[in-house]
Amino acid sequence: MKPVVPFISAASPDERQLWRSALPEALADIAVVKPFDELSQAERQQATVAIVANPDPSEVAALPGLVWVQSLWAGVERLTAELPDDGPAIVRLTDPQMADTMSEAVLAWTLYLHRDMPRYIQQQREKVWLGHELRTPEERTIGVLGIGKLGAASAARLKDNGFNVLGWSRNPKELQGISCFHGEDGLFAVLNRSDIVVVLMPLTQETTGRLGPAELRACKKDAALINFARGPILQSEALLDALDHGPLSHAVLDVFDEEPLPEDHPFWTHDKVTVLPHISAPTITSTAVRIVADNIGGYFETGTVPQSVDRQRGY
Ligand code: NAP
Repeated sequence: MKPVVPFISAASPDERQLWRSALPEALADIAVVKPFDELSQAERQQATVAIVANPDPSEVAALPGLVWVQSLWAGVERLTAELPDDGPAIVRLTDPQMADTMSEAVLAWTLYLHRDMPRYIQQQREKVWLGHELRTPEERTIGVLGIGKLGAASAARLKDNGFNVLGWSRNPKELQGISCFHGEDGLFAVLNRSDIVVVLMPLTQETTGRLGPAELRACKKDAALINFARGPILQSEALLDALDHGPLSHAVLDVFDEEPLPEDHPFWTHDKVTVLPHISAPTITSTAVRIVADNIGGYFETGTVPQSVDRQRGY
C-alpha cells in the first residue's frame, strides 16, 4: 500500500485547489496525497512527511511522527518562526525554474531603471519631450545583496547582459565574473559602489531591518533599489526618507511588511516607488510538483531527507 502524505495549506482557495489536483497526480506512483482534513486518525499517526504551504502550525503539530515537511515556497521565515525548534526538518522549495524566473525579473526591472523608465513615465504625464544621457550597462554597477540560489542566478544574468556586478553574502563566496563581498564592511563597500541595489536575502533574525538609515545613506547619489526578497528586511520609514531627501532616486518593491499593501500606505502613490504585488518569482506548479515528487520519492526509497533549513541561522 502506498504511504499517505498529508497536504497542509492555508493558501488562498484558488491556490489550494490548484495544488490539490497537481500534487496527487505528480506523486501518483509514490504516495497518496491527502488534504489534512481528510486524514484518518491512523493516517495522522503514521505520516512521516507532509507537504506544506502556509500551514496552520497546529495541524503540523497534530502529526506526531513527522520527520520532515516539504514547503512549496522558497522563503521559509514563517515556518522557522512558527514550527518548534525540535519539530520536523524544514525543506524549502529549490527549483531551478524559480531561479530563472527571478533572474528574468531582476533583469527586467534593472533594465527599467537602467533605461530611465520611471523618469520618462513622469515626463509623459507632464508632456515633456526631453532625452537624457544614456549610459552603457558596463558603466552601471549592480549590487546583489544575497547571492544564494536566486541571487547568484540573477547576478550571472546581469553580468551576461553587460552590467558590472557585485555580490554580498553572509559567508565569503566566489562567483565567476562577480566581485563578492561579505560581512559588515562588505555591505558598505557594495552600497557605496552600486547604481542599483537588488535585495535577495532571506528574512531571518539577522536580516530583519538590516537595511536602515545608515545603510541607505551609504548608497550612491541617485542610486535605485529593488527589493524582491521580503518587506521587513528594508525599514520602510528609512526608505521613504532616502527617497524624499536622497540619496535614492527610485525603489521597485515587490514585497512589503504587510501584504496586500494596505490601501493607505504611502508607497502606493509615491512618485519614486514602483509597487508590484509579490510577483517577481511565484512558485510554478508544473515544475515545483516534479521537484516535490523527486524529494518525496527519494525519501521513501532511501530514507534520505533532502537538505533542510538550518534552524539556527534561519535559512
Ligand atoms: P538562499 O539560496 O538561501 O540564499 C540566501 C543568500 O542570502 C545567501 O547568499 C546567503 O549568504 C545570504 N544571506 C543570508 N543571511 C545573510 C546575512 N545575514 N547577511 C548577508 N547575507 C545573507 O535563498 P534564495 O533561494 O536565493 O532565496 C532568497 C529569498 O528570496 C527567499 O528567502 C525569499 O524570501 C525570497 N523570494 C522572493 C520571491 C518573490 O516572488 N518575491 C520568490 C522566491 C523567493 P551565504 O551564501 O553566505 O549563505
